[in-house]
Amino acid sequence: MSRRRSRYVSPQIQYTACHECDALVIVPPLQPGQQAVCPYCGHTLRTLPTQIRQRPLVYSITALIMLLCSNMFTFLGMEVKGIHQDMTLFQTASVLLEEQYPALAALVYLFIQVLPSICLTLICLIYTRLGHWRGKRLRKIYTVWLFRLIPWCMVEVFLIGVLVSLIKISSLAEIELGYSFWAYVLFAIAMLKAFSGIDRDWLWQQQSGPIHLRTPPIPQGRAIDQGLTLCHGCHGLAPLRAGHCPRCNAHLHARKPHSIQWTLALLFTSIILYIPANLLPIMVTETLGNQTYSTILGGVVLLWNMHSYPVALVIFIASVLVPIAKMLIIGWLCWTVKRQDTEHLHGYTRLYRITEFIGRWSMVDVFVVAILVALIRMGKLMSVYPGAAALAFAGVVILTMLSAMSFDPRLLWDQQATSSTLPTAERATNRDE
Ligand SMILES: [Zn+2]
Ligand SMILES: [Zn+2]
Repeated sequence: MSRRRSRYVSPQIQYTACHECDALVIVPPLQPGQQAVCPYCGHTLRTLPTQIRQRPLVYSITALIMLLCSNMFTFLGMEVKGIHQDMTLFQTASVLLEEQYPALAALVYLFIQVLPSICLTLICLIYTRLGHWRGKRLRKIYTVWLFRLIPWCMVEVFLIGVLVSLIKISSLAEIELGYSFWAYVLFAIAMLKAFSGIDRDWLWQQQSGPIHLRTPPIPQGRAIDQGLTLCHGCHGLAPLRAGHCPRCNAHLHARKPHSIQWTLALLFTSIILYIPANLLPIMVTETLGNQTYSTILGGVVLLWNMHSYPVALVIFIASVLVPIAKMLIIGWLCWTVKRQDTEHLHGYTRLYRITEFIGRWSMVDVFVVAILVALIRMGKLMSVYPGAAALAFAGVVILTMLSAMSFDPRLLWDQQATSSTLPTAERATNRDE
């Protein structure tokens, strides 16, 4: 950030190790909007965003203002038989707290407001002079935490949850979208724009410069064979013998320690939790004094019978298909490492990417419960209460996400001998914007 240039182009040539297959790769100079792809496994090594200096900051400030606005007005309103009911964004968590579900309330509030606003504030601190307060060390901590927290911002998942809830109750009541709803939509767009404008490598280069290697890497094979590894904190190529990354101070490991054990332990815990998540009611609906308990699958069947096919499909895919598919894939990947299968590695790596990507989308059903509980509160006429399965299901989603994060895809590729020629990253043009 010290030297101002109108258009940033990445350095001439850069060595890196692929995050997914550990191949040593040369990344050619990139123009803004271009991305470099691993020639072995197809993993995106780096995408150089446009307007690298300004974009994250401008969008973060916009997003924070929009988040503030979305807490000031009505989020959603509904009317049934002349009775009007409003809800604010904060009530998605506070009503759960009133219903004696503090853990669920905390999770919903963390994922949709607290963590996104922490990430956006960190971007503002890192990209402005404010972050220089008390020197470089604090700014490094901000940057490390920014990348740790980003996967847990579930703003867009919450918005899908809002849409599903609206379709669910549109046949029963008249719905009004408040100012806060529109502010939240703008907040989500600005936040995603801010996150996509961050380049981890550029950020660390600006803060601490490149990592100096005593001898340049020999152009062949895997990073581990030359005593190098990709730092999981700053994504720089670092010497393993150092123990800690000279740039971000993260522990350096050739492979994630006890990766398979951690993955399986988290996977089995999520499988155990998935049983009460399906057997217990996720939601209790009270209409004219009659209470109806609905499980996840029961809710899908009910929606299907009510001819709400798209919503039934969304809930079925997000709450039933995705978690089961994720558990099966993670288990299968661990087994593949164990039996040292060297075929279909591209397919397995693709499966791993899918599990990483889809994990958080299962949270839709939990958000639907939070929204319906906050919105439909008309006493004996019509009220919705949370069920114990909602908390169990949130646990399943978090555990499967952690399980996928613990898995090290490089273990899959370790079985295969690597090529003896230096691969150069393929450059795909204009796939960013
Ligand atoms: Zn690769
Ligand atoms: Zn590092």
